[in-house]
Amino acid sequence: MLLYWLVGSISFYSIGILIEKGIKSNDILRDKLTARIKKIKNQPFPSFSLKGIIIGEIKAFLLALIILYLAPEVHRGNNLLLNLGWFLMRIVAADFCFYVAHRLLHTRFLQKIHLKHHEFRDSSSFVAGHKSLLEYIIVAIADVLPIFIFGYDITQLLAWSVIGNAYNLEGHSSLSIFFIPSDFHDLHHTCFNGNYGIQGLWDRVFNTLNPVTKKQGIMFPVSFIEHVTINSSINNDTEKM
Ligand SMILES: [Zn+2]
Ligand SMILES: [Zn+2]
Repeated sequence: MLLYWLVGSISFYSIGILIEKGIKSNDILRDKLTARIKKIKNQPFPSFSLKGIIIGEIKAFLLALIILYLAPEVHRGNNLLLNLGWFLMRIVAADFCFYVAHRLLHTRFLQKIHLKHHEFRDSSSFVAGHKSLLEYIIVAIADVLPIFIFGYDITQLLAWSVIGNAYNLEGHSSLSIFFIPSDFHDLHHTCFNGNYGIQGLWDRVFNTLNPVTKKQGIMFPVSFIEHVTINSSINNDTEKM
């Protein structure tokens, strides 16, 4: 229980700091990875307050408590197929739940709850955690619903919490670093509509996709591997000549 909460919190802060203080302070990396399509006015992100951090940690602790004590536990062991299947299901199911919750938060009736998250158009990674309490509860329900349906395996849950944090932080960083180009969610913040899902699947299904126009495809580490293989094939070709 403690481990799950700690892994979630530590990965959230360390990945966020890595992006904001590490990658963004390196001009070359920042220019290379930037995913912003629309130019917007720079907005300083308010500095962390001890009170904010403590409240955030209490919320995270309670959520971990609810998941670990109320959701059914299953052991999937080391079976690669079972684990991959769970991840795939989790991505599709969690994305669906998030899509529905997020789209509801954009209706006139519930918009007020969600406006705090949209205060920042020039997003910093930590905007990922910037939301009202009511939104936190709604999004948390959407996020844990699939866990209650399919059960949890503690190793998978830990891995999921790190991956989820990485994606959520990257999605708000205006950089494209990990799996899915972050201009997907960046466009949601700059346009205030479309792209309600975690990635594009359910937005395609429900026709709310605002297609990304820049940095399409998967970035680092795939782009890095691509770069290495393309370079080595160019070198091979020149050697043959
Ligand atoms: Zn939104
Ligand atoms: Zn957001």
